[in-house]
Amino acid sequence: MSHNTFGMDVKTKRFVEYDSEEELQALIPTLSGEVLHIGGGSNLLFKGDFDGTVLHSAIRGIEELSSFASNPFMNEDEVLVRVGAGEVWDEFVAWAVERGYGGVENLSLIPGEVGASAVQNIGAYGVEVKDVLVRAEAIDLQRGEKRVFENAECAYAYRQSIFKNALKGRYAITYVTYRLQKHPQLKLEYGNIKAMLSHKAQPSISDVRQAIIDTRNAKLPDPKVQGNAGSFFMNPVVSREKFLSIQKDYPQMPFYDVEGGVKIPAGWMIEQCGWKGKSLGRAAVHDKQALVLVNLGGATSDEILTLCNTICKDVQEKFGIDIHPEVNFI
Ligand SMILES: Cc1cc2nc3c(=O)[nH]c(=O)nc-3n(C[C@H](O)[C@H](O)[C@H](O)COP(=O)(O)OP(=O)(O)OC[C@H]3O[C@@H](n4cnc5c(N)ncnc54)[C@H](O)[C@@H]3O)c2cc1C
Repeated sequence: MSHNTFGMDVKTKRFVEYDSEEELQALIPTLSGEVLHIGGGSNLLFKGDFDGTVLHSAIRGIEELSSFASNPFMNEDEVLVRVGAGEVWDEFVAWAVERGYGGVENLSLIPGEVGASAVQNIGAYGVEVKDVLVRAEAIDLQRGEKRVFENAECAYAYRQSIFKNALKGRYAITYVTYRLQKHPQLKLEYGNIKAMLSHKAQPSISDVRQAIIDTRNAKLPDPKVQGNAGSFFMNPVVSREKFLSIQKDYPQMPFYDVEGGVKIPAGWMIEQCGWKGKSLGRAAVHDKQALVLVNLGGATSDEILTLCNTICKDVQEKFGIDIHPEVNFI
C-alpha cells in the first residue's frame, strides 16, 4: 500500500498502526529514535528512507455528540460530531453532506485523513478547518498523556497550527470534533462555484459538493495516476505597500485582501515565470494548475527539490516575493 501520494519509493525501519488511544499509549515506551506520525501521506515529500518509526492511526468512527437539548453551549441549529483521526477526510465530508449538515462541503475531495485536517488547517474555496473545528484530542508521544486542545489553543492560521510549529511531532491527534450546521449557509464566493450552480434556484450542499468535486477532478492531477501532493507552495501574503508597487508592473495580477496584507496566488506567479506544464528531469509543473508539482514517473526527491528551488528563485527574481513550500519535507 502506498503511504505517500508523491509516489516516492522509500522505506522506513518500522511501521506501526494502532486503533485505539490505549494501544498508542502502550506503544510509546517501545518507541526509540525518530518518530513520524503520518495520515494518508498526501502532503509529504520523503527526501530518502526514514530511519525511525512511522506511526499511523486506524482510529475510526463518526459520532454525533449531543444536541441542543442536552448541551446549553450549543445553538439549536448546530451539531457536534466527533471523528476518529484515521477516518478518511472525504468520507467524513460525504457523511456530513448526506445528512444535510453544512460546514465542510467546500472541503470536498481534499485527500488525507481527519487527524491531519487538524494539523494542516486544510482549506479550499473560502473555508478552512479552523472555521468548524471545536477541539482536537491528542496523545503526547513523549509522555503518553492525553491532552485536549480547544480551537483557540491550536494557533490556527493559513495552513498553520501549533501542531506544525511549536508542538511539531509532539502529539498524535486521535479524535477531532467539528461543529456543523443543520441549516447550512452556503459559501459560493470562491472560484467558479457560483457560476457552476447558477442554473439552480436554491442549490443544496450536495450540489456544492458535486460542483467542487467536478472542478477538482478537472483541474487537479489524481495522485493514483500522477504522483503529487496537491499545492506544493503556499500563497504568499505581502504588505499592501509591496502589493501596490508590484501591481504597477502587473495590473492584471489576481489578489485577495486578507488579514495582515494581500494574498497573491503563487500559481499565477509561477505561470508568469513560464513554468506551467514545464518539466525539469522527471519532475514537472502540472499543466492545468501551476501550484502543483508532479512526479512524471520515477522522479527522485532531489529532482522535485531542484524544480522547487528553481521556481522559488525565478519568482523571487521576477516579483521580489519569496514563496515557500506547503508540503512537509521529511
Ligand atoms: C491532489 C491533492 C489535492 C490537495 N488539495 C488540498 C486542498 O485543497 N487544501 C489543502 O489544505 N490541502 C490539500 N492537499 C494537501 C493534503 O490533502 C492535506 O494537507 C491533508 O490534510 C494531508 O492529510 P494526510 O492524512 O495525507 O496527512 P499526511 O500528509 O500524512 O501528513 C501531513 C502532516 O500531518 C501530520 N499528521 C498526520 N496525521 C496525524 C495525526 N493523526 N496526528 C498527528 N500528526 C499527524 C504529519 O506528521 C504531517 O506533518 C492536497 C493534496 C493532494 C495530493
